[in-house]
Amino acid sequence: MQLSINLDDCIGCGVCMQICPDIFGLDDNEGRAVIIDSGKTEDELELVKEAIDNCPIGCINE
Ligand code: SF4
Repeated sequence: MQLSINLDDCIGCGVCMQICPDIFGLDDNEGRAVIIDSGKTEDELELVKEAIDNCPIGCINE
């Protein structure tokens, strides 16, 4: 999976990191999400899909 975040659009709301904290983190300096790990297990990939579906801006891409 090629996971990416459109950082110009991210508002740092924290939804993605609440859903999968092992995959998404918060860049404290920028106030935006960062990708810690793109996810490998089935469970992680399911959580990534949930984060994509719940991002209010729709700025997570795979
Ligand atoms: S859910 Fe979307 S807008 Fe919110 S922090 Fe994550 S990537 Fe940014």
